[in-house]
Amino acid sequence: MDETLIATINKLQDALAPLGGGSSSPVDLPQITVVGSQSSGKSSVLENIVGRDFLPRGTGIVTRRPLILQLVNRRPSKDSKKDTKDLLNLESGSNGNGGQSEDNEDEWGEFLHLPGKKFFNFDEIRQEIVNETEAKTGKNAGISPVPINLRIYSPHVLTLTLVDLPGLTKVPVGDQPKDIEKQIKDMILKFISKPNAIILSVNAANTDLANSDGLKLAREVDPEGSRTIGVLTKVDLMDQGTDVIEILAGRVIPLRYGYVPVINRGQKDIEQKKTIRAALLDEKKFFENHPSYSSKAHYCGTPYLAKKLNSILLHHIKQTLPEIKLRIETALKKYQSELASLGPETMDSPSSIVLSIITDFCNDYNGILDGEAKELSSLELSGGARISFVFHEIYKNGVNALDPFDQIKDSDIRTIMYNSSGAAPSLFVGTQAFEVLVKQQIHRFEDPSIRCINLIFDELVRILTQILQNPKYSRYPQLKEALSNSFIEFLRQALIPTQEFVTDIIQSEETYINTAHPDLLKGSQAMAMVQEKLHPKQVQVDPKTGKPIASHSPAPSITEDDKSQGFFGGFFSSKNKKRLAAMEAPPPVLKAVGAMSDRETMETEVIKLLIQSYFSIVKRTVADIIPKAIMLKLIIKSRNDIQKILLEKLYSSSDMSDLVKENELTKQRRQECLKMVDVLRHANEIVSSV
Ligand code: GDP
Ligand code: MG
Repeated sequence: MDETLIATINKLQDALAPLGGGSSSPVDLPQITVVGSQSSGKSSVLENIVGRDFLPRGTGIVTRRPLILQLVNRRPSKDSKKDTKDLLNLESGSNGNGGQSEDNEDEWGEFLHLPGKKFFNFDEIRQEIVNETEAKTGKNAGISPVPINLRIYSPHVLTLTLVDLPGLTKVPVGDQPKDIEKQIKDMILKFISKPNAIILSVNAANTDLANSDGLKLAREVDPEGSRTIGVLTKVDLMDQGTDVIEILAGRVIPLRYGYVPVINRGQKDIEQKKTIRAALLDEKKFFENHPSYSSKAHYCGTPYLAKKLNSILLHHIKQTLPEIKLRIETALKKYQSELASLGPETMDSPSSIVLSIITDFCNDYNGILDGEAKELSSLELSGGARISFVFHEIYKNGVNALDPFDQIKDSDIRTIMYNSSGAAPSLFVGTQAFEVLVKQQIHRFEDPSIRCINLIFDELVRILTQILQNPKYSRYPQLKEALSNSFIEFLRQALIPTQEFVTDIIQSEETYINTAHPDLLKGSQAMAMVQEKLHPKQVQVDPKTGKPIASHSPAPSITEDDKSQGFFGGFFSSKNKKRLAAMEAPPPVLKAVGAMSDRETMETEVIKLLIQSYFSIVKRTVADIIPKAIMLKLIIKSRNDIQKILLEKLYSSSDMSDLVKENELTKQRRQECLKMVDVLRHANEIVSSV
């Protein structure tokens, strides 16, 4: 069971490898990452854990790409009776001859970039690592974050995943880039900052731990030391009489998983081709016989380190697997839905693409107008609801704000009264003056109505923009633009008849004043109201009905003119009989001036009441009918005609194949999504099988 867990992670690692690992991967797998200064012994530790000599060695920076090393414990073939315990029981000598460099049918390596090829010769593995490193980085000691994935099958390893990284260096050598230190640091951080990374911090015991660059970096991302495990190399090179006991006891820099001291082959050992097996035996003897370590020798050395790493990794995987599963599923869903919105790579003919985009657009348009759009927002009004807001809030308020009396002055009413009575003084002049004045005021409804049309036009364009945001339209940028242009052009043309229709409605209101409108105040009612206002005491209220009853006192009669104060009294009030007799011509501008007679006051007030009453009738009519007119001429028209128009303009065009040229970004993104979906689906199967 435990072994399958690690095996699962290994498989996942391979499945997700095409995504380039690193931070771009949606899933962060638990793995052990080796961190330390250059030449601290990182590669040596890894080789000792594997028990084979296979990593490139040399001076300077040798590890220049991340090496993801998956160790797979594999039962030996049937004729071999040895098992994994061999690793921990070295004296038994698993290979009998102890010749580690010899080929062995139970142990081999495989590279992810060379699927199916088994490397039984570990020298060839080393060569392949060198070749692959140079393939991506060149020979000039540059580095690359693209990992090499190597899997080693062996009965002598514990199943484990380790990542070897370039060592921390300070000074660029040769033609290394100037910022090599930063590049390496960034690469290491990319691996160890992920919360699922276990940090294997390698430090040479003969250097000061407090100055360890690897440990410093580990502390940056894991300040508690809760996922860092320390390794102390080169214990054999320590000065006589010194040891690492203080560090092991956690009294220098404590780590939750503690430190393991190890001894690798020195440079001389390597040159003399000392086998790892021999080195491991020497390591064991060293700790067992050293006065400082003999009492705790079984907590020292490479086999103990391997066991410890294996159990830490297992523990970590068990903890994180449910979350990994969830992440894979989430990422899979995300890419699947993006893929769906990008649409499949199409082999359809241009005409059928154009047709289906037009159909989609018309459906989307109608849906939004009807409030049936799939992605209805709860945060803001959209489509039909916004149109309704324009009609019922903005337009209605605009109409209601019109007040005829901010333009009509009492003196104007009087002048118009005179003018409208023409040459012959009429008996009752009110009606005509009222009509003249009210017509002028009704004209004022035109402005807000035209404004309303423009606001609706803007809303329809807004709906267009909203629809075209859907990625299915961005897929064909030219078609999208042509569609947008045709739609707006169509709306512009529809504006003209809409405006005509609306101004006609206002004009018809202007043209004929319906004085018989049932809601219009009656002349007699108006008069009674004015009399009550002017002579309140003379109006008595019928105690039974509560209505005003006819006044008994003589009200100024309209027909009974005050002869001494005639309409033009103001102009001819001069007592100079000579001037009167001279009969001067009227002045160029002749205005009704002077104090108003009772009758004039009365008539003015009556006319004002009637204007008020009629104006509010028109207000109601206009607020009701103009939206209906705009609905008919602009909104419904666009609904009904848009498909036909778009077909005419787009479907018939000779350059349809240009219109449906797919956006390069869409194509690329689709490829990426396809790859992600593929990889994640595979990963999902692997995780689900646990
Ligand atoms: P890396 O750069 O961190 O990968 O370090 P290497 O594993 O390449 O080791 C650097 C040098 O230190 C090599 O010459 C090793 O032989 C030597 N070395 C590593 N570990 C030990 C050790 O425990 N004892 C001794 N004596 N030499 C070691
Ligand atoms: Mg190395």
